[in-house]
Amino acid sequence: MGQKYMKAAVLTGPKQIQIKEVPVPAVGPGEIEIQVSACGVCGSDVHMWKSGKGWAEFDGDFWMGHEFCGVVTNPGNSNFKKGDRVVFWANLYCGKCDMCQAGQEQLCREVNGTNYIGFVCNGAYAEYYVGRASNAYLLPDTVSDTAASLMDPLMVAYHAIRRSGMKLHDKVLVAGSGIIGQMLGELAKKAGASYVAMYKISDVKTQRAREIGIFDEYFDGNDPQREKGLKEASGGGFDIVFEAVGDASALAACIDGVRPGGKIVMIGNSVEPEISFAMNRAVLQEITLLGSVSCTRKEFEETIDLIAGGLIDPEKYVTEVLPLEGLQHALERQIAPEDPMVKFVVKPNGG
Ligand SMILES: [Zn+2]
Ligand SMILES: [Zn+2]
Repeated sequence: MGQKYMKAAVLTGPKQIQIKEVPVPAVGPGEIEIQVSACGVCGSDVHMWKSGKGWAEFDGDFWMGHEFCGVVTNPGNSNFKKGDRVVFWANLYCGKCDMCQAGQEQLCREVNGTNYIGFVCNGAYAEYYVGRASNAYLLPDTVSDTAASLMDPLMVAYHAIRRSGMKLHDKVLVAGSGIIGQMLGELAKKAGASYVAMYKISDVKTQRAREIGIFDEYFDGNDPQREKGLKEASGGGFDIVFEAVGDASALAACIDGVRPGGKIVMIGNSVEPEISFAMNRAVLQEITLLGSVSCTRKEFEETIDLIAGGLIDPEKYVTEVLPLEGLQHALERQIAPEDPMVKFVVKPNGG
């Protein structure tokens, strides 16, 4: 049998994607080959795209893509069958360390925030993907390809809600208008929040959120009376606040909005290695600051159930579905400040 080739959206330099014919990798032990159905375009792709390289050294071509699903074309020695629809979890956890043993795979000692498919190895912006079967999960028929490619932001929002310990009737503030912020609002409402508000700097991305109609109120980051407005609207401060931006001014807004004794869950990845914040306010008001990253392996499976069971339909957040050739365009729109895009999905095999 001759070598099989496929199209891949190769990262060839800073802000440069080139569609190339590349060999389909061989299926090794414990691996499966899938024909990629859909792959979500993520904010973290933008960082690699800007720098022109992945998070590891690559001998040959590198292509990104870590939010994906597909149809099994070669099950290797796994329990999957040809034709099975699967969604991949991009976290390359080791399964052996103390964190993995405790069911905290998002904190795996080997992963440490960086060991993901499409970052340290080739991803799914290609017609086929070959990778370890233990990261693949069967998809029920009730979860569409597009919905499955939105598992990544949804699982982040789901894990953050669980980390927050949110209770019925809590008042919730979300700082950030991106897809994770919007999904956080929807999950918080559906988990029983009595009042859900968004804090945002601009209205460019809130158009979709307003159409969907989950948020009770929007607060403008440029308002000099910000703290007064947030405290008054929430009757003394929000019980739970999510930071889904990753910068000092959004964290400051979270501290302005939270009630004494309340919680701030930090999800945003800061570009700066260090940011400062009003520590004394956190101390004197006994504010709990929590970090939240990705999700556990169990929560990944539960996120599939959330979609399959109809609790949330992530497809409504999709701005546009594009072919592989559209990836460059999607990434350019992703960084255009006036673009109202919320989420792009790439379908390398059409459909
Ligand atoms: Zn992502
Ligand atoms: Zn581990």
